[in-house]
Amino acid sequence: MVIDMASRIAFWLGLLALLSGEAQAGLDYTLRLHGDGTELAVHLCAPDGLAAGELRSGDRDSTRWLLAIDGDGSSRPRRSGERIVHSGLSAGQCLRYRVDLRSAGRGDRYGLGWRDDAYAMLRLSDWFWRPQRIPAGTQASVAFPDGWSASLPWTPSDASGRRYRIPDTPRSWEGFSAFGRFEERRLDYPGGRLRVTLLPTTRPIPTPALLRWLDLNTRAVLTSSGRLPLADAQVLVVPLPGVRSPTPWGQVARGGGSALRLFTGLDASEAERNEDWTLSHELSHLFHPYLGDGGRWLSEGLASYYQNVLRARAGILTPERAWSKLDAGFGRGHDERSTRGQRLSEVSAGYRGTMRVYWSGAAYWLEADAALRERHGQSLDAVLERFAERHLPAYQTWSPERFTAELDRLAGTRLFVPMYQRYAADTRFPDLDDTYRRLGIGTGIQRLRSDPNAPAAAIRDAIMARSPDSVRAADAAVAR
Ligand SMILES: [Zn+2]
Repeated sequence: MVIDMASRIAFWLGLLALLSGEAQAGLDYTLRLHGDGTELAVHLCAPDGLAAGELRSGDRDSTRWLLAIDGDGSSRPRRSGERIVHSGLSAGQCLRYRVDLRSAGRGDRYGLGWRDDAYAMLRLSDWFWRPQRIPAGTQASVAFPDGWSASLPWTPSDASGRRYRIPDTPRSWEGFSAFGRFEERRLDYPGGRLRVTLLPTTRPIPTPALLRWLDLNTRAVLTSSGRLPLADAQVLVVPLPGVRSPTPWGQVARGGGSALRLFTGLDASEAERNEDWTLSHELSHLFHPYLGDGGRWLSEGLASYYQNVLRARAGILTPERAWSKLDAGFGRGHDERSTRGQRLSEVSAGYRGTMRVYWSGAAYWLEADAALRERHGQSLDAVLERFAERHLPAYQTWSPERFTAELDRLAGTRLFVPMYQRYAADTRFPDLDDTYRRLGIGTGIQRLRSDPNAPAAAIRDAIMARSPDSVRAADAAVAR
């Protein structure tokens, strides 16, 4: 009876997968440009066939940019509401669609998505139509004319820069893409590479200065363990002519792979851009998996803590400046009154109380790092390195409970989970008095004072100093 029921369930699940268009083997996407870069032609082929089903882009409005759909044999792909439905592909058959890049790019709400004869910058959900699950082995090829390139989050699968493996990230995870007259540069570091695109704009862009800015801040990340936490990341830089702010906006995306998008003002000086916190903040997000809305305080907290610690270690800030920036952040978090009385986890999930969310999170990581070093002879850098080795890149959401439990397991501690529970339930800004006292950090009238005789003064100094591991790894990388 039990066996009978199990086989029936297996039968129905199989039928369900077939009906929902789940493919069992990898798919092949090919991207081509038409009409001087105004149209993208996508061929989706199924070397092993594809059961009848549907494709979606993740954005119900992106059917607006579809120009034409057709397919081989009896596949009959057609638009149906916010989907492309099809009757299945036999082995080797393809379906094709074309996307109006110019209209989609012009739909960008900041007016930065399209420049004639230069580039289109789009969200993946503007044009990438896919089944619910992307089958293992799915690949993409970019067949563009000479002088045209793509910036995509997918993982390059050979040295050409034109073939990719497409990982199965959730369709709700947004990604960045750009197609145009630019070149993608590869910056290699121990542990991984950044694929960098500097989008062309109306003015000549200071390419060497922008690459130095990326390199300086990436080297700051290397002060953690000597290695990048990820083998591959897409970096899309959008230069803004006439803007004085060095980096007014930056963001991380996880759809299709790990990516950073950075908007940088071309009227900022190189020194201002290099010192700015945004790039080190966004790069620090590469140390953790996506933690969901409820874990936003942990992820933003980690980036807010590391943006200062890493810059101090790289010599961009003095340790004193880094401590006083952390202290100022804690002050802003403490002073945010709008969400007092509400639990941090709820405020975080509800996208409220930005200062409280970011700086409560930074307090969490400072307290954890200090405790790891003082009581367990370890460091946050080393624990996150172990996490990255085992679990990054992560193509699914990690709940904050699972993430902190795994950090405790990797460190052999009972530290991250109890602290997580205490912080998440807290209705006020965390009390850092004890951590400050042990580290010997005191706030004076004008500036932060460091007490050389505090019980954990050496740990305070070590947090802002390059770890011996990172120095060794960096030396080894140079020697190679
Ligand atoms: Zn952030």
